[in-house]
Amino acid sequence: MPRVLSNRHVADLKAHAEQLPRVRTQYERLKTELEQQRQKTTRLENDLAKAGQTLEAAAATAKKAEAVAHARYRQTDQQLCAARQQLVDAGFRERRLQESIAVLHAEIKKLKAAAERAAVIAAQQPGPGENVVRYLNLVGAHVDVTLSSLHQDGTGTELLLVSLCSGCGYTKQESGWVRDIPRERREFLEGTFTGGKIKQWAQEHAANCRAVALPAPAAA
Ligand SMILES: [Zn+2]
Repeated sequence: MPRVLSNRHVADLKAHAEQLPRVRTQYERLKTELEQQRQKTTRLENDLAKAGQTLEAAAATAKKAEAVAHARYRQTDQQLCAARQQLVDAGFRERRLQESIAVLHAEIKKLKAAAERAAVIAAQQPGPGENVVRYLNLVGAHVDVTLSSLHQDGTGTELLLVSLCSGCGYTKQESGWVRDIPRERREFLEGTFTGGKIKQWAQEHAANCRAVALPAPAAA
């Protein structure tokens, strides 16, 4: 049996029916929004994936940079070692050079000392000499008194007076140190115990010697 609808129910139904298009519109709107949200989610997921890739790439780059830095560090370390070795080598070379220089200095010192000794010896050798007086012995051979300088040092001179008979070869000598003033030189030449004695001996010898030098034997 058909249900009898009250007026109130009919009014309610009518009101609901009137609301239907609005609800549909709302549904369509919500559906659109849902679709938009889905698209947004997809975009975000894509972005996330891209960010992940970027992150991986960054990590790889960082790893590569770290490897490069390590290599550079090793290289720098090797360069430092080489530089240190060069410094050490240079130090050795310098020490060897200094040793060589010291050896050379010692040799120069030795040579100087030898040269000084040679100069002293040369200074001690009487020079050609100055003939002070000459006597003739009984047969005409020369008895010469010769003056020479043994050594000079700026304050004075060591004089050597030699008397030599060329007939018999007999000789006498006297030496003495005098300051470089004429008076002291004269005193040495004339003194009773120096020059005077030598000259007196030469004269006495000449008065008694009959020797004459034989000519040198002819070369074979
Ligand atoms: Zn003589």
